[in-house]
Amino acid sequence: MPRYYAIVPAAGSGSRFGAEIPKQYLPLAGRPLLYHTLLALCRCERIDRVWVVLSPADEWWRESEWTSLGPKLETVFCGGATRAQSVANGLLAAATAAADDDWMLVHDAARPCLSQALLADLCDQLADDPVGGLLAVPVADTLKRADADQRVAATEPRDGLWQAQTPQMFRYGLLGAALAGQAGVTDEAGAVEAAGFRPKLVRGEASNLKVTYPADLRLAELILRGRYE
Ligand code: C5P
Repeated sequence: MPRYYAIVPAAGSGSRFGAEIPKQYLPLAGRPLLYHTLLALCRCERIDRVWVVLSPADEWWRESEWTSLGPKLETVFCGGATRAQSVANGLLAAATAAADDDWMLVHDAARPCLSQALLADLCDQLADDPVGGLLAVPVADTLKRADADQRVAATEPRDGLWQAQTPQMFRYGLLGAALAGQAGVTDEAGAVEAAGFRPKLVRGEASNLKVTYPADLRLAELILRGRYE
């Protein structure tokens, strides 16, 4: 039976957020944001190990307490210049444990509200899939393309469009091969698509949001507080 592992790329600077601290370390419901992200994966019985990929220059990790996340957590300071490079470096760090057929779940550090139900649903729906796939939600809003003056240049059809979330779940061997030489892709599915495969879209939830701007952090706090109460 294939095993399940997880990688959390957490080596970004979070420049769009505009804070002094990288966004993965911002306080959220009494802990660093990253703690909640890692807790969701460490709590999942199916997942055997979780690699968190930090920047070699990270000064923040040691400032907080992480031992309560338990023995599954492995910390590696091998983040790269892009998200894809950080994930590729994390895959190398996992090479001593993972076999080609094992499942690797890659989850953004900045998505702290992943529920156990959604995680279980992703694993269940992809368990027998030959390729793997990702959580995603169908686009609900009308899409506008902007011109240089921030005026509407066109209304884009949204039929068949989904917003990609994480975790993205692929076989260890396939994902490593797909990511090799693909430093520019913004998610793992992009690399797997470029390698000629068709990842499965598994319906996610809006609550599995990515914290990108300050308002997202306030929303994440409301979601987590509601869940912990
Ligand atoms: O910036 P963005 O929110 O798209 O980053 C997505 C994820 O990739 C975050 O968890 C971030 O920490 C991570 N990342 C990384 N290495 C980089 C850039 C981003 O691990 N060089």
